[in-house]
Amino acid sequence: MSYTAEYIWIDGTAPTAEVRAKTKILADGEEPGIWGFDGSSTNQASGDNSDVVLQPVFSCPDPFRGGDNILVLCETLLPGDFAVHPSNTRAAAREALEKYGDHEPLFGMEQEYTMLEPASGWPAGFPPNAFPLPQGPYYCGVGAVKITGRDIVEEHIDACLKARLAISGVNAEVMPGQWEFQIGPVDTVTVGDHIWMARYLMYRIGEKHHLEISLAAKPMKGDWNGAGMHTNFSTKAMREGYDAVIAAAESLGAPGKPEEHLAGYGIGIEDRLTGEHETQRYDQFSYGVSDRGASVRIPWQVAQDKKGYIEDRRPNANADPYVVATLMTNTVCGAAL
Ligand code: ADP
Ligand code: MN
Ligand code: MN
Ligand code: MN
Repeated sequence: MSYTAEYIWIDGTAPTAEVRAKTKILADGEEPGIWGFDGSSTNQASGDNSDVVLQPVFSCPDPFRGGDNILVLCETLLPGDFAVHPSNTRAAAREALEKYGDHEPLFGMEQEYTMLEPASGWPAGFPPNAFPLPQGPYYCGVGAVKITGRDIVEEHIDACLKARLAISGVNAEVMPGQWEFQIGPVDTVTVGDHIWMARYLMYRIGEKHHLEISLAAKPMKGDWNGAGMHTNFSTKAMREGYDAVIAAAESLGAPGKPEEHLAGYGIGIEDRLTGEHETQRYDQFSYGVSDRGASVRIPWQVAQDKKGYIEDRRPNANADPYVVATLMTNTVCGAAL
């Protein structure tokens, strides 16, 4: 008897890395060990020195193949000395968690995405060659006029649960064809593992339904919401008291910090953070209770309970969750020392 391990990794495509995957057939009882691939085909190596190493770091049941088959998320390493590959952003998340683990950082990420017709690139919720009625009825909407792709969303929930990912919810978004799923609350490394794995599952289900799943930050110019990856964050101290919540929001606005964070929050951030469509402008920093026009929101429940978490509303849908989680852990925990 044999089983399959689907090796999944993040490539070196710029400006936004993408998911790659290939299958290994293993004998029963055989462990999915290190493997390799042709980095010259993934923007991770040159042709004359093309091998890149795959190091399994997180595995879970394969919801598509079922049975004993598994998905294996990998870090990329250099052959020879097994040093961390330059495109491997998970390594820094590991280091941040190692350094600040006693703060018990927890993340909940809200991954927005848009379903597109692959041939035209037009959102699946838009009529062919035309625009739908303006935004308003679509967010959390119900009914065929407002909603496209719910069967994909339902299959994705099912796949995430079968893979035992920490999915915590889904909703239809403000622009037609746009949806969101949430992962969390989990630690600095796990949130990236589960977001990348959940993205992979979503792309696969999109293949089946002949729709492209896009993480573009502003898929439709004009009066249409962009797609973000709001990042909810807490430490043990924040979950216990309000001073730590305020200190966390303040630390994100300290001199130099907004620029440092925006550089890691995904490509096309100026197109999305316009100050319109429930965003703060990219060149301004603010935080406030219940304020969806702020960079950082303190949920009303948190202000009421005087403890909890903050929501950084700035990361783009196309951001790397390892990079976002590393920045937030280092900035907030570093300031709290
Ligand atoms: P929104 O109202 O912004 O749409 P969502 O319900 O989509 O919020 O997402 C909230 C996220 O916050 C969820 O992913 C949840 O897991 C996460 N979350 C809840 N409590 C905490 C906490 N203490 N620390 C970090 N994340 C949290
Ligand atoms: Mn949400
Ligand atoms: Mn949303
Ligand atoms: Mn949100």
